[in-house]
Amino acid sequence: MNLIPARIPGFVMSLFPNFIWNIDTNNKELYLTFDDGPTPGITPWVLQQLKNYNAKATFFCIGSNIEKYPEIFEMIVAEGHSIGNHTYNHLKGWKHETKTYLEDIKKTQLIINYNSQKEVEYHTELACTKRSRSDVSQTIKLFRPPYGKLKTKQAKQIQKLGYKIALWDVLSFDWDSKVSEEKCYDNIINSAKAGSIIVMHDSKKAKRNLKTVLPRVLDYYNKRSFEFKAIS
Ligand SMILES: [Zn+2]
Repeated sequence: MNLIPARIPGFVMSLFPNFIWNIDTNNKELYLTFDDGPTPGITPWVLQQLKNYNAKATFFCIGSNIEKYPEIFEMIVAEGHSIGNHTYNHLKGWKHETKTYLEDIKKTQLIINYNSQKEVEYHTELACTKRSRSDVSQTIKLFRPPYGKLKTKQAKQIQKLGYKIALWDVLSFDWDSKVSEEKCYDNIINSAKAGSIIVMHDSKKAKRNLKTVLPRVLDYYNKRSFEFKAIS
């Protein structure tokens, strides 16, 4: 049995007002986020689903995965989605010294910056006029702690480095093998509201739920005139 609710209670959010839990809006907007990629065979599929609905999202990438699959990372950037830092080794903040944790984040940021830049140069070489540097570079630096866990001291240091710490208000539990596709879909549909930040994963663990649920979620909200936006 899962004791963590799909929708994060308001009192939890109010305890940590410096984190982004959702986007304050009355507009019909939702913020899909995908953690733990890039992953071959999964991230490109996610990108195609998003494209089918003209949806934008935010990808919280693991540094070591970007290094392994830079071409998939470049696809995410080229499609105009936002990128967030999710550490290099998917570290649980509570278990690590602040110094180690920050170094892991900084290392990832260098990889993000380097590979985002490559994408820009690639387009420049092809004299592609569709995309300019300003289109693909983000002005804000986003960070999401793996497992949603980090020490207060770590959070303060990360914010000092200029990051916005983005958590979520809706958990899909797509990674949990005990959660059925139907339950995972319900977790989102029953909890999301205008401005919600929804967590999904472009990882192997989440594949079964993701492949069924993502197209259905996109379709459900598209029919209800919602727009999917990237955190920016
Ligand atoms: Zn993660």
